[in-house]
Amino acid sequence: MIKKVDHIGIAVSSIEEALPLYTDVLQLRLIRIEEVESEGVKVAFIDGGNVKLELLEPLHEQSTIYTFLQKRGEGIHHIAFGVSSIQERINELKTKGVRMIHDAPKKGAQGADVAFIHPKSTNGVLYELCEKLNKGETE
Ligand code: ZN
Repeated sequence: MIKKVDHIGIAVSSIEEALPLYTDVLQLRLIRIEEVESEGVKVAFIDGGNVKLELLEPLHEQSTIYTFLQKRGEGIHHIAFGVSSIQERINELKTKGVRMIHDAPKKGAQGADVAFIHPKSTNGVLYELCEKLNKGETE
């Protein structure tokens, strides 16, 4: 059902300020920076070798990342599982009694289809299901 951990989402106040730790100090490769308007976030993907890191910066106060930073401060926000046939995975989880935040996938970074599992069903961890469009992409 789950293919792998695709990325770990980390909430930051400023990507510009957070990035040197990853690129200069830890010497990891920056894959890309993009804005996901629908989510009100700017994201930076970093190549962590076996898993990507996704830095999330709020674009405005309506962003859920803004709320997260206000409540909890910077830190790990979610863990994303790579899946295929995401709608089937959602339905399967619901059949097994898992509560979903999203009953249908929505568009995330890179145009991927994403859906979040409610942390009440997962010991307080926010998990994302993520299905990439161009599966051939090797990053
Ligand atoms: Zn994510």
